[in-house]
Amino acid sequence: MKQSTSLVSSEAAICLDGVSKTFQLDNGDEIAALHDINLQLSEGEFVAILGPSGCGKSTVLRLISGLDTATSGTIGIEGALPRELAQAHRLGVAFQDHALLPWLTIAQNIALPFHVAGRKVDHAYIADLVALVGLTGFETARPSQLSGGMRQRASIARSLVLDPDVLLLDEPFGALDAVTRRHMNVELQRIWGARTLTTLLVTHSVEEALFLADRIIVMTGRPGQILREVPVPFARPRDPDVMRTPEFHALVDDLTQALDPDTSAGGAG
Ligand code: ADP
Ligand code: MG
Repeated sequence: MKQSTSLVSSEAAICLDGVSKTFQLDNGDEIAALHDINLQLSEGEFVAILGPSGCGKSTVLRLISGLDTATSGTIGIEGALPRELAQAHRLGVAFQDHALLPWLTIAQNIALPFHVAGRKVDHAYIADLVALVGLTGFETARPSQLSGGMRQRASIARSLVLDPDVLLLDEPFGALDAVTRRHMNVELQRIWGARTLTTLLVTHSVEEALFLADRIIVMTGRPGQILREVPVPFARPRDPDVMRTPEFHALVDDLTQALDPDTSAGGAG
């Protein structure tokens, strides 16, 4: 295994080096949310994070997105600090709680990052993205007029609108039924394949992680740590039929077991 030298760090698109995060509660208690996380993504790599509820997945994404800061350790994204990259609008983020604004149309929601960045709205590009996520014809609809899956696609379009270098997705398909979710997985692979985009996806679904990612990180909680890293061997572009292969099933079993190595501890929440 390579030591993390400054050379390696600068070559990685995302580099977490010994990152720990402790939350201080009002009553004086401390929650060790993350302990000594070391993780590197190369440019254009798609990595999925799996782990039980409360193991620190969202905290990892919040730290990388610059929404929160690590207690110790360093995070570099393309040689810059998370906040610098966010301020340069080179980070695309679609979190569960990043809802669309209900009073704006779909096109206006997707255009929002241009306004936030103080840039001129590129209407032609928005039309391209709307087509890419399959929402042509719904530009003037309000979020409440769309299905859950369509709203998720609109948020993904919004996260891509400033052509970010890095995409962070926190359970973007968590609320969807299985059929819509599978459809969205195929869509996301297509969108991702059309550009060079370093992507970190948090998901509860082992199948989703295996279908989309180049590599899977399995986390464990209390404190949040990396338990295992699993390379995904399937060639791209991937057809949903890959999910029916024995290799796929074997990896699903393996990862499911890794996520639940000992039922005695139980998974809260
Ligand atoms: P996951 O996304 O894997 O479900 P989180 O990253 O949301 O887990 O949370 C990891 C741990 O940190 C949990 O124990 C959670 O309660 C705690 N935590 C997360 N955010 C905060 C916060 N702002 N204040 C206090 N504790 C927090
Ligand atoms: Mg979470």
